[in-house]
Amino acid sequence: MADHQRSRLVVLAGPTAVGKGTVAAWVREHHPEVWISVSATTRPPRPGEVDGVHYHFVGEDGFDDLVARDDLLEWAVVHGRHRYGTPRSPVEAQLDAGRPALLEIDLQGARQVRDAMPDALFCFLAPPSWDELTRRLVGRGTEDEEERERRLRTARLELAAESEFDVTVVNTEVPVAGAQLLDLFG
Ligand code: 5GP
Repeated sequence: MADHQRSRLVVLAGPTAVGKGTVAAWVREHHPEVWISVSATTRPPRPGEVDGVHYHFVGEDGFDDLVARDDLLEWAVVHGRHRYGTPRSPVEAQLDAGRPALLEIDLQGARQVRDAMPDALFCFLAPPSWDELTRRLVGRGTEDEEERERRLRTARLELAAESEFDVTVVNTEVPVAGAQLLDLFG
């Protein structure tokens, strides 16, 4: 008999601007026992983002290589722009080591993980309301009008996907949502 079980993988997804990154950051800060996957992306770093910490920042060719080598558990073009993907082997290694693992990814990616790893637990992070989601999306103020409209359209589609998930956590307050997410590791 194995001396430990493979630990649980929780996949956190949800609409644009619902606060997935903020909830994941809360978990990172307060529960370092949970391993959080570092994605690869072709998006350029924002100020303050560190390669290997927030993302593995790769060029288009680098991302092509990851795909060609089948090194990604899932990948997707997010907001019609940049590619994002989850490196496969670190996830496998953490689960084999019995450590709880969290992926914070978009809906397209979550669907791929569901096919590849059906034992994972899929958590939908929902906004308290559509108005609140819109406020958060506009309030962030980092996108122009066209980009905001595009993100809202995506968000409508993403909200409709809630029923595909095992659990919904409503992100009214980050520490509360974070604690509910942690409960899913059992
Ligand atoms: P941002 O560019 O703001 O950091 O992230 C944009 C979106 O990409 C977020 O919705 C985030 O969940 C998603 N994302 C980040 N990493 C991955 C990944 O590895 N795979 C997929 N499919 N989406 C990701």
